[in-house]
Amino acid sequence: MKRRMVLGGAGFALASPMIMTRAAVAQQTNADTSMSIDHAMPPETHRFNVGKFEVLVVKDGARPSGKPQETFGTNQSPEVVGALLEANFLPADAFVNSFAPVLVNTGSDVILFDTGMGEAGRANGLGRLAEGLTAAGYTREDVTIVVLTHMHGDHIGGLMEGGKPAFPNARYVTGQAEYDFWVDPARAGTPAENGQKGVLANVKPLAEKMTFIGDGGEVVSGITGMAAFGHSPGHMIYRLESDGRQLVLTADTANHFVLSLQRPDWEVRFDMDKAAAAATRKKVFDMIATDKLAFLGYHMPFPAVGYAEKIEEGYRFVPKAYQFDI
Ligand SMILES: [Zn+2]
Repeated sequence: MKRRMVLGGAGFALASPMIMTRAAVAQQTNADTSMSIDHAMPPETHRFNVGKFEVLVVKDGARPSGKPQETFGTNQSPEVVGALLEANFLPADAFVNSFAPVLVNTGSDVILFDTGMGEAGRANGLGRLAEGLTAAGYTREDVTIVVLTHMHGDHIGGLMEGGKPAFPNARYVTGQAEYDFWVDPARAGTPAENGQKGVLANVKPLAEKMTFIGDGGEVVSGITGMAAFGHSPGHMIYRLESDGRQLVLTADTANHFVLSLQRPDWEVRFDMDKAAAAATRKKVFDMIATDKLAFLGYHMPFPAVGYAEKIEEGYRFVPKAYQFDI
């Protein structure tokens, strides 16, 4: 770590004193994780076309954690979970969760799907969506529609900035069932109480500019919502279609590219209704594998786009290559 800091420090001094300061802050607040150096790197973005739609994926950040079995496969033993990770060339005792909001430029609208961690994540090197948009030539003012797949903190955190809407020219689209669940006063005193606070602070103030949809609801022509309940009560995924090309934004239907896809039945700590989430996972990825559809999963390894091949009891993640370029 020390050696890295010396090497990094020298490099950043040449590049920019401001960036060096941020790196130093990162070292202090997030010591001893190899990812902390991310602060000083330019934000990662990735651009490709789906028919006439331009798709821009932005890495809002990445968070390393230990004890994978306490999140993915909570009804399995740590040994079984570790063995599957090692069989896939991954460490048995740690994992990285990354966050991939998506901007879709249809030519008439600039549509952002989910907003990352926002200000709350910045101290830990997260919340880099706006920085990534800037790097790719967009501003927050360019966004005309913000779509929320569901209302967990890593998806709604970036809606507000300094107490004001972060995307001042946008209207919003989200699932009716999801919104109704989170704003219901009945959440008080339940495990959802904390999440509700985030929704009341970040989502509810924007409700006047919100369109609520259900299964089959359209965002704009060529972008259709599909109910994928389970991870959260009103979790929605979105199918993009332009010029005969398709991409499914699967949001949090599967949250680890090995553990959730290869073993869709394993219980996941983040899934609010574990049985419904597993059933939805199998239904959605069965469709994706059978129809050979490309998908983009919010927590898949960046740039988070690929295909699912049916294997044994689940699916193998196949990252995209040049399929969209030709
Ligand atoms: Zn998420």
